[in-house]
Amino acid sequence: MALSFYQHQRIQNYLAFQRKDFLLIAGILFLLIGLMGVGLAPIYSVIISITIYAGIKIFIGRRKKMIEKEVGEGICAKCGSKIENQKCPICDRKKS
Ligand SMILES: [Zn+2]
Repeated sequence: MALSFYQHQRIQNYLAFQRKDFLLIAGILFLLIGLMGVGLAPIYSVIISITIYAGIKIFIGRRKKMIEKEVGEGICAKCGSKIENQKCPICDRKKS
């Protein structure tokens, strides 16, 4: 069975978040190497990196929840409106 547009979009969003997660980890690793490079003790470099990582994760998590709340059931493919009760308030209103 083919995926509906809304399911497909959700998977796309999920993959986008996964990619961002990978970039975040890569960025934190570079930061860690950079901090040790400037002569900071490894333990402090690790603590700073983990703190920043945790902070960004919390920030992303909050933003993700905000987006999910905003988007709700999805966005209309035609006009970009928020979908409510599986219907677009603009396009489905025109039809009836
Ligand atoms: Zn619409």
